[in-house]
Amino acid sequence: MGRLSRPKRMIRVTCLGACGGVTGSNYLVETSRGVKMLVDCGLFQGGKDAERQNWEPWGFNPGEIKTLVLTHAHIDHCGRVPKLVADGFSGTILATPPTVELCRILLLDSAHIQENNAGWQTRRNRRSGRKEVQPLYTIRDAEESLSRFSAMERDQIREVEPGVKMRFRNAGHILGSSILELWLDDGEQEVKVVFSGDLGKDDQLIVRDAHEVYEADYVFVESTYGDRLHRSFPDSKNELLEAILHAYENGEKTMIPSFAVERTQEIIYVLSEFHREGKLPDIPIYLDSPLAIKATEIFRKNRKYWDEEAQEIIRQGHDPLDLPNLKFTPDTAQSIAINEKSGPAIVIAGNGMCTAGRIKHHLKHNLWRPGASLVIVGFQAQGTTGRRIVEGARTVKIFQEDVAVQAKVYTIGGFSAHGDQADLLEWIGHFGESRPRVFPVHGEAGAKMVFAEKIREKFGLEVHIPRLRESLLLKPREVKVESPGVELSDVPTPDTLHNLLVEMENTIRSIKRQAPERFKDVKDGDHDLERLQFIQEELAGIARDRK
Ligand SMILES: [Zn+2]
Ligand SMILES: [Zn+2]
Repeated sequence: MGRLSRPKRMIRVTCLGACGGVTGSNYLVETSRGVKMLVDCGLFQGGKDAERQNWEPWGFNPGEIKTLVLTHAHIDHCGRVPKLVADGFSGTILATPPTVELCRILLLDSAHIQENNAGWQTRRNRRSGRKEVQPLYTIRDAEESLSRFSAMERDQIREVEPGVKMRFRNAGHILGSSILELWLDDGEQEVKVVFSGDLGKDDQLIVRDAHEVYEADYVFVESTYGDRLHRSFPDSKNELLEAILHAYENGEKTMIPSFAVERTQEIIYVLSEFHREGKLPDIPIYLDSPLAIKATEIFRKNRKYWDEEAQEIIRQGHDPLDLPNLKFTPDTAQSIAINEKSGPAIVIAGNGMCTAGRIKHHLKHNLWRPGASLVIVGFQAQGTTGRRIVEGARTVKIFQEDVAVQAKVYTIGGFSAHGDQADLLEWIGHFGESRPRVFPVHGEAGAKMVFAEKIREKFGLEVHIPRLRESLLLKPREVKVESPGVELSDVPTPDTLHNLLVEMENTIRSIKRQAPERFKDVKDGDHDLERLQFIQEELAGIARDRK
Protein backbone atom coordinates (compact mmCIF):
# COMPACT_ATOMS: atom_id res chain seq x y z
CA MET A 1 0.00 0.00 0.00
CA GLY A 2 1.16 3.57 -0.71
CA ARG A 3 2.30 5.86 2.05
CA LEU A 4 -0.15 8.44 3.30
CA SER A 5 1.20 11.84 2.35
CA ARG A 6 2.34 13.80 5.39
CA PRO A 7 1.22 17.42 5.82
CA LYS A 8 4.02 19.94 5.22
CA ARG A 9 3.56 21.61 8.61
CA MET A 10 4.12 19.00 11.21
CA ILE A 11 4.56 18.38 14.93
CA ARG A 12 5.26 14.80 15.81
CA VAL A 13 5.91 12.94 19.03
CA THR A 14 7.28 9.41 18.83
CA CYS A 15 6.91 7.23 21.91
CA LEU A 16 10.19 5.37 22.33
CA GLY A 17 9.80 4.26 25.94
CA ALA A 18 7.35 3.92 28.83
CA CYS A 19 4.72 2.89 26.27
CA GLY A 20 3.73 -0.73 26.46
CA GLY A 21 5.42 -0.72 29.87
CA VAL A 22 6.34 1.48 32.80
CA THR A 23 10.07 2.01 32.36
CA GLY A 24 12.40 3.42 29.71
CA SER A 25 10.68 6.83 29.33
CA ASN A 26 11.78 8.43 26.07
CA TYR A 27 9.91 10.68 23.64
CA LEU A 28 11.19 12.19 20.42
CA VAL A 29 9.61 15.56 19.62
CA GLU A 30 9.96 16.82 16.04
CA THR A 31 8.61 19.83 14.21
CA SER A 32 8.67 20.90 10.57
CA ARG A 33 11.07 23.69 11.63
CA GLY A 34 13.79 21.08 11.91
CA VAL A 35 13.56 20.56 15.66
CA LYS A 36 14.42 17.14 17.03
CA MET A 37 14.48 17.03 20.79
CA LEU A 38 14.00 14.44 23.48
CA VAL A 39 11.93 14.29 26.61
CA ASP A 40 13.46 11.86 29.14
CA CYS A 41 15.95 9.12 28.36
CA GLY A 42 15.27 6.39 30.87
CA LEU A 43 16.49 2.88 31.39
CA PHE A 44 14.22 -0.07 30.69
CA GLN A 45 14.08 -2.06 33.91
CA GLY A 46 12.54 -5.23 35.29
CA GLY A 47 13.99 -8.49 34.08
CA LYS A 48 16.02 -9.62 31.09
CA ASP A 49 13.40 -8.96 28.41
CA ALA A 50 12.86 -5.39 29.48
CA GLU A 51 16.57 -4.74 29.87
CA ARG A 52 17.34 -6.08 26.40
CA GLN A 53 15.51 -3.02 25.04
CA ASN A 54 18.29 -0.79 26.37
CA TRP A 55 20.52 -2.21 23.64
CA GLU A 56 18.12 -1.69 20.76
CA PRO A 57 18.61 1.10 18.20
CA TRP A 58 17.37 4.47 19.44
CA GLY A 59 14.91 5.19 16.65
CA PHE A 60 16.78 8.45 15.86
CA ASN A 61 20.35 9.60 15.41
CA PRO A 62 21.65 10.82 18.83
CA GLY A 63 24.06 13.15 17.00
CA GLU A 64 21.10 15.08 15.56
CA ILE A 65 19.54 15.88 18.92
CA LYS A 66 20.40 19.26 20.40
CA THR A 67 18.18 19.26 23.49
CA LEU A 68 17.19 16.62 26.00
CA VAL A 69 14.78 17.62 28.75
CA LEU A 70 14.62 15.46 31.89
CA THR A 71 11.50 15.48 34.04
CA HIS A 72 13.26 13.96 37.05
CA ALA A 73 16.21 11.94 38.28
CA HIS A 74 14.66 8.47 38.55
CA ILE A 75 16.70 6.04 36.53
CA ASP A 76 13.70 4.98 34.39
CA HIS A 77 13.69 8.61 33.16
CA CYS A 78 17.41 9.43 32.92
CA GLY A 79 19.25 6.09 33.04
CA ARG A 80 20.17 5.87 29.35
CA VAL A 81 21.72 9.36 29.22
CA PRO A 82 25.34 8.06 29.37
CA LYS A 83 24.58 5.69 26.48
CA LEU A 84 23.01 8.54 24.51
CA VAL A 85 26.19 10.58 24.97
CA ALA A 86 28.40 7.61 24.13
CA ASP A 87 26.34 7.12 20.95
CA GLY A 88 26.97 10.66 19.74
CA PHE A 89 24.67 13.10 21.56
CA SER A 90 26.52 16.36 22.17
CA GLY A 91 23.64 18.70 22.99
CA THR A 92 22.34 20.20 26.22
CA ILE A 93 20.48 18.34 28.97
CA LEU A 94 17.98 20.55 30.77
CA ALA A 95 16.74 19.69 34.25
CA THR A 96 15.94 21.45 37.53
CA PRO A 97 18.89 22.08 39.91
CA PRO A 98 17.99 19.21 42.32
CA THR A 99 17.51 16.87 39.34
CA VAL A 100 21.00 17.76 38.08
CA GLU A 101 22.48 17.03 41.52
CA LEU A 102 20.59 13.75 41.89
CA CYS A 103 21.46 12.64 38.34
CA ARG A 104 25.14 13.05 39.20
CA ILE A 105 24.99 10.37 41.91
CA LEU A 106 22.39 8.18 40.20
CA LEU A 107 24.09 7.99 36.80
CA LEU A 108 27.50 7.22 38.31
CA ASP A 109 25.87 4.53 40.43
CA SER A 110 24.06 3.12 37.43
CA ALA A 111 27.31 3.02 35.41
CA HIS A 112 28.98 1.26 38.31
CA ILE A 113 26.23 -1.39 38.28
CA GLN A 114 26.52 -1.76 34.48
CA GLU A 115 30.28 -2.29 34.71
CA ASN A 116 29.94 -4.72 37.63
CA ASN A 117 27.27 -6.81 35.94
CA ALA A 118 29.20 -6.97 32.68
CA GLY A 119 32.37 -7.94 34.55
CA TRP A 120 30.57 -10.65 36.48
CA GLN A 121 28.91 -12.01 33.33
CA THR A 122 32.23 -11.94 31.47
CA ARG A 123 33.95 -14.01 34.18
CA ARG A 124 31.09 -16.49 34.05
CA ASN A 125 31.18 -16.63 30.25
CA ARG A 126 34.95 -17.21 30.17
CA ARG A 127 34.55 -20.28 32.35
CA SER A 128 32.09 -21.72 29.85
CA GLY A 129 34.17 -20.64 26.85
CA ARG A 130 31.85 -17.84 25.74
CA LYS A 131 32.77 -14.31 24.81
CA GLU A 132 33.10 -11.25 27.03
CA VAL A 133 30.21 -8.93 27.78
CA GLN A 134 30.30 -5.16 27.30
CA PRO A 135 28.57 -2.88 29.81
CA LEU A 136 25.68 -0.76 28.48
CA TYR A 137 27.87 2.19 29.42
CA THR A 138 30.88 2.87 31.59
CA ILE A 139 31.66 5.20 34.49
CA ARG A 140 33.62 7.32 31.98
CA ASP A 141 30.51 7.61 29.78
CA ALA A 142 28.50 8.70 32.81
CA GLU A 143 31.13 11.29 33.79
CA GLU A 144 31.19 12.58 30.22
CA SER A 145 27.39 12.90 30.19
CA LEU A 146 27.38 14.96 33.41
CA SER A 147 29.18 17.80 31.62
CA ARG A 148 26.18 18.15 29.30
CA PHE A 149 23.73 19.06 32.07
CA SER A 150 22.43 22.59 32.43
CA ALA A 151 20.19 23.54 35.36
CA MET A 152 16.93 25.39 34.75
CA GLU A 153 14.60 26.49 37.54
CA ARG A 154 10.89 25.78 37.50
CA ASP A 155 8.13 28.24 36.55
CA GLN A 156 10.01 30.15 33.89
CA ILE A 157 9.40 29.98 30.17
CA ARG A 158 12.42 29.66 27.92
CA GLU A 159 12.78 29.23 24.17
CA VAL A 160 15.08 26.22 23.88
CA GLU A 161 14.95 25.52 20.15
CA PRO A 162 13.53 27.47 17.18
CA GLY A 163 9.79 27.55 17.84
CA VAL A 164 9.99 25.51 21.05
CA LYS A 165 9.24 27.11 24.40
CA MET A 166 9.25 25.12 27.62
CA ARG A 167 8.54 25.45 31.31
CA PHE A 168 9.07 23.09 34.24
CA ARG A 169 6.30 22.84 36.83
CA ASN A 170 6.45 21.00 40.13
CA ALA A 171 5.30 17.37 39.78
CA GLY A 172 5.37 16.62 43.53
CA HIS A 173 6.93 13.19 42.92
CA ILE A 174 10.54 13.41 44.11
CA LEU A 175 12.87 16.28 44.92
CA GLY A 176 13.26 18.34 41.74
CA SER A 177 10.67 16.38 39.76
CA SER A 178 8.80 18.29 37.10
CA ILE A 179 5.89 18.40 34.77
CA LEU A 180 6.99 19.67 31.38
CA GLU A 181 4.98 22.21 29.41
CA LEU A 182 6.00 22.52 25.76
CA TRP A 183 4.75 25.08 23.26
CA LEU A 184 5.60 23.84 19.79
CA ASP A 185 5.34 26.10 16.77
CA ASP A 186 5.40 24.48 13.36
CA GLY A 187 5.76 27.82 11.57
CA GLU A 188 2.05 28.40 11.26
CA GLN A 189 0.37 27.38 14.46
CA GLU A 190 1.26 26.56 18.03
CA VAL A 191 0.44 23.36 19.86
CA LYS A 192 0.77 22.98 23.59
CA VAL A 193 1.89 19.56 24.80
CA VAL A 194 2.18 18.66 28.46
CA PHE A 195 4.22 15.74 29.76
CA SER A 196 3.16 14.94 33.31
CA GLY A 197 6.46 13.22 34.14
CA ASP A 198 5.75 11.11 37.21
CA LEU A 199 3.12 12.71 39.43
CA GLY A 200 3.30 12.53 43.19
CA LYS A 201 0.33 11.89 45.38
CA ASP A 202 -1.58 14.55 47.27
CA ASP A 203 0.02 15.59 50.56
CA GLN A 204 3.15 13.61 49.85
CA LEU A 205 5.89 14.13 52.43
CA ILE A 206 8.76 16.58 51.87
CA VAL A 207 7.85 17.71 48.31
CA ARG A 208 5.07 20.17 47.53
CA ASP A 209 1.91 18.98 45.76
CA ALA A 210 1.91 18.79 41.96
CA HIS A 211 1.23 22.00 40.07
CA GLU A 212 -2.21 22.26 38.51
CA VAL A 213 -1.98 22.91 34.78
CA TYR A 214 -5.07 24.27 33.06
CA GLU A 215 -4.36 24.26 29.37
CA ALA A 216 -3.08 21.85 26.79
CA ASP A 217 -3.83 20.46 23.37
CA TYR A 218 -2.25 17.13 24.26
CA VAL A 219 -1.34 15.57 27.60
CA PHE A 220 0.97 12.62 28.11
CA VAL A 221 0.08 11.40 31.57
CA GLU A 222 1.72 8.71 33.66
CA SER A 223 -0.63 5.93 34.77
CA THR A 224 1.44 3.74 37.12
CA TYR A 225 -1.49 3.52 39.52
CA GLY A 226 -4.21 4.46 37.02
CA ASP A 227 -6.30 1.47 38.12
CA ARG A 228 -5.80 1.67 41.89
CA LEU A 229 -6.42 3.73 44.96
CA HIS A 230 -3.76 3.90 47.64
CA ARG A 231 -4.54 3.09 51.21
CA SER A 232 -4.73 6.21 53.33
CA PHE A 233 -1.42 7.53 54.54
CA PRO A 234 -2.20 7.39 58.30
CA ASP A 235 -3.09 3.68 57.80
CA SER A 236 0.19 3.14 56.00
CA LYS A 237 2.17 4.78 58.77
CA ASN A 238 0.40 2.56 61.34
CA GLU A 239 1.23 -0.49 59.26
CA LEU A 240 4.88 0.48 59.11
CA LEU A 241 4.94 0.82 62.89
CA GLU A 242 3.16 -2.53 63.21
CA ALA A 243 5.79 -4.18 61.00
CA ILE A 244 8.62 -2.71 63.08
CA LEU A 245 6.99 -3.77 66.36
CA HIS A 246 6.28 -7.28 65.01
CA ALA A 247 9.96 -7.88 64.26
CA TYR A 248 11.05 -6.06 67.44
CA GLU A 249 8.91 -8.32 69.65
CA ASN A 250 10.42 -11.36 67.92
CA GLY A 251 13.94 -10.04 68.33
CA GLU A 252 14.30 -9.88 64.54
CA LYS A 253 15.01 -7.27 61.92
CA THR A 254 12.69 -5.15 59.82
CA MET A 255 13.94 -4.92 56.25
CA ILE A 256 12.83 -2.04 54.08
CA PRO A 257 13.98 -2.30 50.46
CA SER A 258 13.84 1.27 49.37
CA PHE A 259 14.45 3.51 46.40
CA ALA A 260 17.38 5.75 47.22
CA VAL A 261 15.63 8.93 46.25
CA GLU A 262 12.49 10.18 47.99
CA ARG A 263 11.15 6.91 49.41
CA THR A 264 14.15 6.48 51.70
CA GLN A 265 13.88 10.07 52.88
CA GLU A 266 10.14 9.67 53.46
CA ILE A 267 10.75 6.58 55.57
CA ILE A 268 13.35 8.43 57.63
CA TYR A 269 10.91 11.35 57.92
CA VAL A 270 8.22 9.05 59.33
CA LEU A 271 10.64 7.21 61.64
CA SER A 272 11.78 10.58 62.92
CA GLU A 273 8.14 11.50 63.57
CA PHE A 274 7.59 8.16 65.42
CA HIS A 275 10.64 8.97 67.50
CA ARG A 276 9.38 12.47 68.41
CA GLU A 277 6.06 10.88 69.40
CA GLY A 278 7.83 8.25 71.53
CA LYS A 279 6.45 5.33 69.49
CA LEU A 280 9.71 3.84 68.30
CA PRO A 281 11.53 1.13 70.30
CA ASP A 282 15.15 1.90 71.12
CA ILE A 283 16.78 -0.11 68.30
CA PRO A 284 19.40 0.78 65.70
CA ILE A 285 18.21 2.06 62.34
CA TYR A 286 20.64 1.52 59.48
CA LEU A 287 20.59 3.42 56.26
CA ASP A 288 22.63 0.79 54.45
CA SER A 289 22.97 2.27 51.01
CA PRO A 290 25.81 4.54 49.88
CA LEU A 291 23.51 5.94 47.21
CA ALA A 292 20.62 6.68 49.58
CA ILE A 293 23.08 8.29 52.01
CA LYS A 294 24.28 10.64 49.25
CA ALA A 295 20.69 11.32 48.17
CA THR A 296 19.72 12.16 51.75
CA GLU A 297 22.57 14.71 51.86
CA ILE A 298 21.22 16.29 48.65
CA PHE A 299 17.74 16.47 50.21
CA ARG A 300 19.17 18.18 53.30
CA LYS A 301 20.97 20.73 51.09
CA ASN A 302 17.84 21.56 49.12
CA ARG A 303 15.46 22.57 51.91
CA LYS A 304 14.08 25.46 49.85
CA TYR A 305 12.17 22.90 47.75
CA TRP A 306 10.55 21.26 50.80
CA ASP A 307 6.89 21.70 51.57
CA GLU A 308 5.34 23.76 54.36
CA GLU A 309 5.02 20.85 56.85
CA ALA A 310 8.68 19.92 56.56
CA GLN A 311 9.69 23.60 56.93
CA GLU A 312 7.51 23.80 60.05
CA ILE A 313 9.31 20.84 61.69
CA ILE A 314 12.60 22.65 61.12
CA ARG A 315 11.16 25.85 62.65
CA GLN A 316 10.28 23.80 65.74
CA GLY A 317 13.95 22.91 66.08
CA HIS A 318 13.97 19.37 64.65
CA ASP A 319 15.60 17.84 61.60
CA PRO A 320 12.89 15.82 59.82
CA LEU A 321 15.59 13.72 58.16
CA ASP A 322 17.42 12.66 61.30
CA LEU A 323 16.87 10.78 64.57
CA PRO A 324 19.24 9.61 67.31
CA ASN A 325 19.49 5.90 66.41
CA LEU A 326 19.96 6.47 62.69
CA LYS A 327 23.31 5.17 61.47
CA PHE A 328 24.72 5.64 58.00
CA THR A 329 26.75 2.65 56.81
CA PRO A 330 28.49 3.67 53.58
CA ASP A 331 31.23 1.02 53.80
CA THR A 332 30.86 -2.64 52.89
CA ALA A 333 32.45 -3.74 56.17
CA GLN A 334 29.82 -1.79 58.12
CA SER A 335 27.10 -3.41 56.02
CA ILE A 336 28.39 -6.92 56.68
CA ALA A 337 28.56 -6.12 60.40
CA ILE A 338 24.80 -5.49 60.44
CA ASN A 339 24.15 -9.14 59.60
CA GLU A 340 26.74 -10.38 62.07
CA LYS A 341 24.88 -8.68 64.88
CA SER A 342 21.69 -10.43 65.97
CA GLY A 343 18.75 -8.71 67.60
CA PRO A 344 16.14 -6.27 66.38
CA ALA A 345 17.00 -3.44 64.03
CA ILE A 346 15.55 -1.54 61.13
CA VAL A 347 17.50 -1.84 57.88
CA ILE A 348 16.76 0.44 54.97
CA ALA A 349 18.71 -0.74 51.92
CA GLY A 350 18.57 -0.56 48.14
CA ASN A 351 17.49 -1.38 45.66
CA GLY A 352 13.78 -0.86 45.91
CA MET A 353 12.76 -3.91 43.86
CA CYS A 354 15.23 -6.33 45.52
CA THR A 355 17.03 -7.05 42.24
CA ALA A 356 20.48 -5.75 43.24
CA GLY A 357 22.33 -3.94 45.97
CA ARG A 358 22.76 -4.62 49.66
CA ILE A 359 19.13 -5.53 50.28
CA LYS A 360 19.90 -8.91 48.67
CA HIS A 361 22.34 -9.71 51.49
CA HIS A 362 19.78 -8.70 54.10
CA LEU A 363 17.11 -10.82 52.41
CA LYS A 364 19.43 -13.79 52.31
CA HIS A 365 20.08 -13.45 56.06
CA ASN A 366 16.55 -12.59 57.20
CA LEU A 367 13.82 -13.43 54.69
CA TRP A 368 13.63 -17.03 55.92
CA ARG A 369 13.25 -15.98 59.57
CA PRO A 370 9.58 -16.28 60.59
CA GLY A 371 9.75 -13.42 63.11
CA ALA A 372 11.28 -10.85 60.77
CA SER A 373 9.41 -8.17 58.82
CA LEU A 374 9.78 -7.21 55.19
CA VAL A 375 8.20 -3.90 54.32
CA ILE A 376 7.50 -3.21 50.65
CA VAL A 377 6.89 0.49 50.16
CA GLY A 378 7.27 0.98 46.43
CA PHE A 379 6.06 -0.15 43.04
CA GLN A 380 7.45 -3.59 42.10
CA ALA A 381 7.85 -4.08 38.34
CA GLN A 382 7.02 -7.37 36.68
CA GLY A 383 9.93 -9.78 36.67
CA THR A 384 11.57 -8.46 39.82
CA THR A 385 12.27 -10.36 43.06
CA GLY A 386 10.16 -7.81 44.93
CA ARG A 387 7.18 -8.49 42.66
CA ARG A 388 7.48 -12.25 43.21
CA ILE A 389 7.50 -11.77 46.97
CA VAL A 390 4.50 -9.42 46.85
CA GLU A 391 2.64 -11.95 44.71
CA GLY A 392 3.16 -14.58 47.39
CA ALA A 393 6.11 -16.69 46.19
CA ARG A 394 7.09 -19.32 48.80
CA THR A 395 10.76 -19.08 47.87
CA VAL A 396 12.83 -16.67 45.81
CA LYS A 397 16.27 -17.00 44.25
CA ILE A 398 18.88 -14.80 45.87
CA PHE A 399 22.52 -15.20 44.82
CA GLN A 400 21.64 -18.49 43.07
CA GLU A 401 20.15 -19.84 46.27
CA ASP A 402 16.51 -20.64 47.09
CA VAL A 403 15.51 -18.57 50.10
CA ALA A 404 12.19 -19.27 51.82
CA VAL A 405 9.86 -16.32 52.29
CA GLN A 406 8.96 -16.76 55.95
CA ALA A 407 9.29 -13.21 57.20
CA LYS A 408 6.01 -11.35 57.46
CA VAL A 409 5.55 -9.31 54.29
CA TYR A 410 3.85 -5.92 54.58
CA THR A 411 2.93 -4.24 51.31
CA ILE A 412 2.29 -0.64 52.19
CA GLY A 413 0.85 1.31 49.25
CA GLY A 414 0.50 4.66 50.99
CA PHE A 415 4.22 5.41 50.73
CA SER A 416 4.13 5.51 46.99
CA ALA A 417 5.69 8.54 45.34
CA HIS A 418 3.06 8.16 42.60
CA GLY A 419 -0.43 9.55 42.67
CA ASP A 420 -3.22 6.99 42.67
CA GLN A 421 -6.19 6.94 40.29
CA ALA A 422 -8.00 9.69 42.21
CA ASP A 423 -4.92 11.96 42.24
CA LEU A 424 -4.30 11.39 38.53
CA LEU A 425 -7.93 12.05 37.61
CA GLU A 426 -7.96 15.21 39.67
CA TRP A 427 -4.86 16.45 37.88
CA ILE A 428 -6.35 15.66 34.45
CA GLY A 429 -9.59 17.37 35.53
CA HIS A 430 -7.88 20.78 35.71
CA PHE A 431 -7.44 20.77 31.93
CA GLY A 432 -11.25 20.58 31.62
CA GLU A 433 -12.06 23.58 29.44
CA SER A 434 -9.13 23.17 27.05
CA ARG A 435 -10.32 19.63 26.24
CA PRO A 436 -6.94 18.08 25.46
CA ARG A 437 -6.45 14.72 23.90
CA VAL A 438 -4.95 12.46 26.54
CA PHE A 439 -2.24 9.84 26.07
CA PRO A 440 -1.82 7.54 29.09
CA VAL A 441 1.75 6.25 29.26
CA HIS A 442 4.10 4.86 31.94
CA GLY A 443 1.81 2.09 33.18
CA GLU A 444 1.13 -1.59 32.74
CA ALA A 445 -1.47 -2.41 30.08
CA GLY A 446 -4.31 -3.06 32.52
CA ALA A 447 -3.69 0.11 34.51
CA LYS A 448 -3.64 2.23 31.35
CA MET A 449 -6.85 0.72 30.02
CA VAL A 450 -8.79 1.24 33.24
CA PHE A 451 -7.41 4.77 33.54
CA ALA A 452 -8.24 5.62 29.91
CA GLU A 453 -11.81 4.48 30.42
CA LYS A 454 -12.13 6.57 33.59
CA ILE A 455 -10.92 9.69 31.77
CA ARG A 456 -13.45 9.16 28.97
CA GLU A 457 -16.24 8.49 31.42
CA LYS A 458 -15.51 11.37 33.77
CA PHE A 459 -14.44 14.14 31.41
CA GLY A 460 -15.55 12.98 27.95
CA LEU A 461 -12.02 13.56 26.69
CA GLU A 462 -10.54 11.73 23.78
CA VAL A 463 -7.99 9.20 24.98
CA HIS A 464 -5.50 7.13 23.06
CA ILE A 465 -2.98 4.69 24.52
CA PRO A 466 0.20 4.96 22.43
CA ARG A 467 2.15 1.83 21.65
CA LEU A 468 5.92 1.57 21.76
CA ARG A 469 7.55 3.26 18.73
CA GLU A 470 4.26 4.81 17.68
CA SER A 471 4.38 8.30 16.15
CA LEU A 472 1.62 10.78 16.91
CA LEU A 473 0.95 13.72 14.63
CA LEU A 474 -0.22 16.63 16.75
CA LYS A 475 -2.28 19.51 15.42
CA PRO A 476 -3.93 22.42 17.21
CA ARG A 477 -7.17 21.31 18.83
CA GLU A 478 -10.46 23.00 18.10
CA VAL A 479 -12.24 24.27 21.16
CA LYS A 480 -15.37 22.18 21.50
CA VAL A 481 -18.67 24.03 21.94
CA GLU A 482 -21.03 21.08 22.15
CA SER A 483 -23.37 21.03 25.11
CA PRO A 484 -22.45 18.70 27.95
CA GLY A 485 -23.63 15.15 27.65
CA VAL A 486 -22.55 14.68 24.04
CA GLU A 487 -20.05 11.87 23.64
CA LEU A 488 -17.31 14.06 22.22
CA SER A 489 -14.99 11.18 21.65
CA ASP A 490 -17.49 9.79 19.15
CA VAL A 491 -17.65 12.95 17.07
CA PRO A 492 -14.88 12.57 14.53
CA THR A 493 -13.15 15.74 13.38
CA PRO A 494 -10.83 15.85 10.37
CA ASP A 495 -7.93 15.86 12.81
CA THR A 496 -8.99 12.78 14.69
CA LEU A 497 -9.59 10.91 11.44
CA HIS A 498 -6.18 11.95 10.21
CA ASN A 499 -4.57 10.75 13.44
CA LEU A 500 -6.55 7.52 13.31
CA LEU A 501 -5.28 6.87 9.81
CA VAL A 502 -1.70 7.54 10.84
CA GLU A 503 -2.13 5.17 13.76
CA MET A 504 -3.63 2.60 11.43
CA GLU A 505 -0.77 3.00 9.01
CA ASN A 506 1.64 2.28 11.85
CA THR A 507 -0.42 -0.69 12.95
CA ILE A 508 -0.51 -2.12 9.44
CA ARG A 509 3.27 -1.80 9.21
CA SER A 510 3.64 -3.76 12.41
CA ILE A 511 1.08 -6.37 11.30
CA LYS A 512 3.01 -6.74 8.07
CA ARG A 513 6.18 -7.39 10.02
CA GLN A 514 4.55 -10.00 12.25
CA ALA A 515 2.22 -11.66 9.75
CA PRO A 516 4.65 -13.99 7.95
CA GLU A 517 5.60 -15.67 11.22
CA ARG A 518 2.05 -15.67 12.60
CA PHE A 519 0.35 -17.06 9.49
CA LYS A 520 3.12 -19.51 8.54
CA ASP A 521 1.03 -22.65 8.76
CA VAL A 522 -2.35 -21.34 9.70
CA LYS A 523 -5.58 -23.18 8.84
CA ASP A 524 -8.77 -21.68 7.40
CA GLY A 525 -11.13 -20.37 10.06
CA ASP A 526 -8.31 -18.81 12.04
CA HIS A 527 -9.75 -15.83 13.90
CA ASP A 528 -6.89 -13.45 13.21
CA LEU A 529 -6.99 -14.27 9.52
CA GLU A 530 -10.77 -13.72 9.41
CA ARG A 531 -10.31 -10.45 11.21
CA LEU A 532 -7.72 -9.38 8.65
CA GLN A 533 -10.10 -10.15 5.80
CA PHE A 534 -12.90 -8.25 7.53
CA ILE A 535 -10.68 -5.17 7.95
CA GLN A 536 -9.65 -5.39 4.31
CA GLU A 537 -13.26 -5.45 3.12
CA GLU A 538 -14.38 -2.66 5.44
CA LEU A 539 -11.54 -0.37 4.34
CA ALA A 540 -12.22 -1.10 0.69
CA GLY A 541 -15.89 -0.24 1.38
CA ILE A 542 -15.00 3.16 2.90
CA ALA A 543 -12.76 4.04 -0.02
CA ARG A 544 -15.48 2.90 -2.54
CA ASP A 545 -18.15 5.08 -0.91
CA ARG A 546 -15.86 8.10 -1.23
CA LYS A 547 -15.65 7.73 -5.05
ZN1 LIG B 1 9.78 8.60 39.00
ZN1 LIG C 1 8.89 6.71 36.31
